Amino acid sequence: MSVPRPEAPALLPHPLTGVPYPSPVPPGTGWPDDPATPVTPVAAEAGQVVSLAGSSGDLATLDARVSVCRACPRLVSWREHVAAQRRASFADQPYWGRPAPSFGDPRAAVLIVGLAPAAHGANRTGRVFTGDRSGDWLFAALHRAGYANQPTSVHAGDGLRLGGIRIVAAVRCAPPDNKPLPSERAACAPWLDRDLQLALGGLRSILALGSIAWDATLAAARRLGWTVPRPKPRFGHGSEAVLQADGRAVRLVGSYHVSQQNTFTGRLTETMLDEVIGRL
Ligand code: SF4
Repeated sequence: MSVPRPEAPALLPHPLTGVPYPSPVPPGTGWPDDPATPVTPVAAEAGQVVSLAGSSGDLATLDARVSVCRACPRLVSWREHVAAQRRASFADQPYWGRPAPSFGDPRAAVLIVGLAPAAHGANRTGRVFTGDRSGDWLFAALHRAGYANQPTSVHAGDGLRLGGIRIVAAVRCAPPDNKPLPSERAACAPWLDRDLQLALGGLRSILALGSIAWDATLAAARRLGWTVPRPKPRFGHGSEAVLQADGRAVRLVGSYHVSQQNTFTGRLTETMLDEVIGRL
């Protein structure tokens, strides 16, 4: 006979700060690096993503608005369900349960575009690629390349800093089975568009992790009026394309995603990842 799991406590301590939070975490309540406040405007549907993204005058505003977005009902429901249930190994800690904003250097010359937060990674910690095996790989590589001040990324507030590089996701909420629907990818696209626009002043290159990030970046570039080579550049590990953006050349580089599926099987090795990061 199965024993019912006891009711979760309403508040659990953040693993680093010890401050208690509910899951999901309300905006502006002191979670490390939470960009939002209780009055940050919330996008409740796709049209509001367009207007709030377009009117974000700087990255801080954009990150704050991203982090409270509720435009995709299926994803909001999933991310909050995961946050409330939690995985047994993380049952003693609160889950962020909100969209993951960008992370890194706001004046970065290099942007990394990933797919979406992991249910028990960024959806738990509130920081992209933080708290899962994918992040272990990525941040170790960024440290080897001199972009990160430490090789590990465990929790928001753990002292990790990036220099010259910033990370965003093509879709900002954790999707079931890591598969956002086309409608959800489309709803989230204006956040990525604005991220690219705000980064453009100093942008040199973009690393797309996986084919979905590659396609999302090319689609964003077209929407922004950048010149994209024709025929459409094909994704592959080490693929490159040069995008012309307002008189500036931005190099797009492809890499297999740092997912466990790729790293455990040897499809992506540390040497392969270091090599593409070295080209940025
Ligand atoms: S996926 Fe993007 S658009 Fe949809 S709710 Fe999350 S942040 Fe908002």
